[in-house]
Amino acid sequence: MRKKIVAGNWKMNLTFPEGIKLINDIIQGSESLSDVQLVIAPPFTYSHEASKILEKTNIGLAAQNCTNNEEGAFTGEISAKMLNSIGVKYVILGHSERRAYYGETDEIVNEKIKLALKYSINPIVCCGEVLPERENNEHFSVVAKQIKGMFYEITPKQVSNIIIAYEPVWAIGTGKTATPKQAQEMHHFIREAIQNSYGHEIANNLSILYGGSCKPSTAKDIFHKSDVDGGLIGGASLNADDFINIANSF
Ligand code: PEP
Repeated sequence: MRKKIVAGNWKMNLTFPEGIKLINDIIQGSESLSDVQLVIAPPFTYSHEASKILEKTNIGLAAQNCTNNEEGAFTGEISAKMLNSIGVKYVILGHSERRAYYGETDEIVNEKIKLALKYSINPIVCCGEVLPERENNEHFSVVAKQIKGMFYEITPKQVSNIIIAYEPVWAIGTGKTATPKQAQEMHHFIREAIQNSYGHEIANNLSILYGGSCKPSTAKDIFHKSDVDGGLIGGASLNADDFINIANSF
């Protein structure tokens, strides 16, 4: 049985006290939840404290990024090894904002995935098309290319520690959610691509999350689709009630 996961990407939002309050509110709200793995991705500077607070809970701690280098003279960067040393269990990689603003390519994401796995951190690997690509009916080929590049030389054993997030870029932060049908057909396509490379069992156990303006009002119809295993949530993860309501949508 594959895992149901709802992950919150806080991006560059909230002060430290606001972040700590949100974590405590989420812990409180999550007490009634069963069967869903909650994950939160605060900014790096809050990770160590978040790790201590989350230690005795079932909520997983994620980072929003890590570097594609092992260690050394890379001013300002944070490595997978460092994240591992403070108890970070997941890392979001290949987010469209990193691709658009920081020039991240599938090749760089592939290097990051390998380092995250080396340090026992589960990558949440993002893919998704921009609006003109969807309008030109190129969305399947775009996502297929991203998956191929990001999974280069990733072994079958490693895939079982990876989560994929399908995030159509036109839906991120726009208030425009993909329809349940659009999400399902892309998730099915991604699962088939993984099946073609890694076989049925691995593909069937892979959690594929939907991301893009997911809210409590839209999560239910999307999460009920057979190939959707949860969500990567941006804006709505900054409110504990909304985040918990989304996690209650299965
Ligand atoms: C995201 O950035 O991963 C995301 C899904 O954002 P939002 O929910 O705000 O669209």
